[in-house]
Formats: sequence, structure tokens, C-alpha cells
Amino acid sequence: MTLDEYRFKGLRDKLVQLLVQKGITDNNVLTAIGEVPRHKFIESGLEEYAYLDKPLPIPAGQTISQPYTVAFQTQLLEVKRGEKILEIGTGSGYQAAILAHMGAIVYSLERQKELYIFSQIRLSDLGYNVKVFYGDGYQGKPSYAPFNKIIITCGAPYLPEDLKNQVAIGGYIVVPMDDGNSQVMKRFIRVSENRFDEEDHGRFSFVPMVKGLE
Ligand code: SAH
Repeated sequence: MTLDEYRFKGLRDKLVQLLVQKGITDNNVLTAIGEVPRHKFIESGLEEYAYLDKPLPIPAGQTISQPYTVAFQTQLLEVKRGEKILEIGTGSGYQAAILAHMGAIVYSLERQKELYIFSQIRLSDLGYNVKVFYGDGYQGKPSYAPFNKIIITCGAPYLPEDLKNQVAIGGYIVVPMDDGNSQVMKRFIRVSENRFDEEDHGRFSFVPMVKGLE
């Protein structure tokens, strides 16, 4: 380990302690946050801030979510090794890296070409096996469906019908649902072919889920 890596590891350990204080209990989530190098997913010059519990700007006017939000959403997914997970909104690739680190088989869609290109290169350079696609999350990725879990990392005005069809029965969709002001974190559980149970898990703030490609 270089001195820098050693220092960043110390900062990650502190961040993990903070997330525990804030109520995150899933040990697999905490281990992933403690090991994935968040400073490699943000713009150069901002590395110093990588392990504060804060969102940070990434290209194309988007943001990498605050670590607490990533941890909370990931905890709601109840990730198990070998599960197929579809992410909508690759952004920096950090959330996808957390899921891959936890042993999931990750597919991720991004509508901003610049972010799609950067995150794909970054994830493969860092050794994370994530399939990144340039595509519109409203359509999902039917050729790889069904998924055990779907995670949306942008504020959705409604739950797209295509995504409902692409989650397996027994699977979850975790989505920050926009109500015009901020977003309510929802977990939809597909209990049968046509029925979803719906849970509310508090308010968060996300960039919007936008239709079509950029
Ligand atoms: N999970 C990301 C968070 C990025 S912010 C991370 O860990 O860094 C949300 C991302 O969703 C942005 O990059 C935005 O471009 C993308 N997005 C918004 N609407 C989308 C859509 N319809 N399909 C795919 N991606 C979308």
C-alpha cells in the first residue's frame, strides 16, 4: 500500500463508523464501503472530499450520491452473491462497484454518453466486472431480464412499466420516487406476476431520471 492508499483506507474506516452511527446495519454493505476506493470515482482535485458523507459533482451536471444514500439504498436491496442486478444511472460507476464488490452480477445503464464512456473504462481499470450500457433506463435491458433486483439512482416520476416487467417474482425495485419536491425512497417487491407490495423509506435528494439518450 502506498502512503496515500493507507491514508484513504483510514478515512474509509471512519466513514464506515459514521454510517453505523447513522443506522446502517448490513455488514456486507459496510464491508464494501470500507473497501471500494470512492476517491477513484470522483474528479481529480476533489479526492480530499471523497470520504466525507457528501454528494459530489461528476461530469455532465450529475452527482455521485452521498455515501449514506448509497449504503441505505444498497441495504434495501438485500444483495446476495450471484444475484443479477440492474442499475439505472451508472454516473461515476461507484454504486455499481459496490454491488459488484458484494458479489452481484451487475448491469448498469447510463443515458449520458460521456459518463457511460468514463465509468466503463474506470470500472474495468479497477477490476470490477460490471456490464455498462449506453441506454435509456425507462426501457431497461430486456435482453438480460429477468433481474433479481433493480436499483434506480435518479429521481423517477413514476415506476416505468418496462422495469416492472424485468424484475423476477420475489425480486425488488428500489427507487427514489419524485413527488415534485424531493424523492421518497420506495421499495417495490414483486409478489406475483401482477402484484407489487410498496414500502416507503424516507426522503432523499437525487438528480432527475430523464427520458431518452443524451
Ligand atoms: N449511481 C451513480 C449516481 C449517478 S447520478 C453513481 O454511483 O455515481 C444519476 C445518473 O442517472 C446520472 O448519471 C444520469 O445521467 C443518469 N440518468 C438519468 N436518467 C436516466 C435514464 N433515463 N437512463 C439512464 N440513466 C439516467
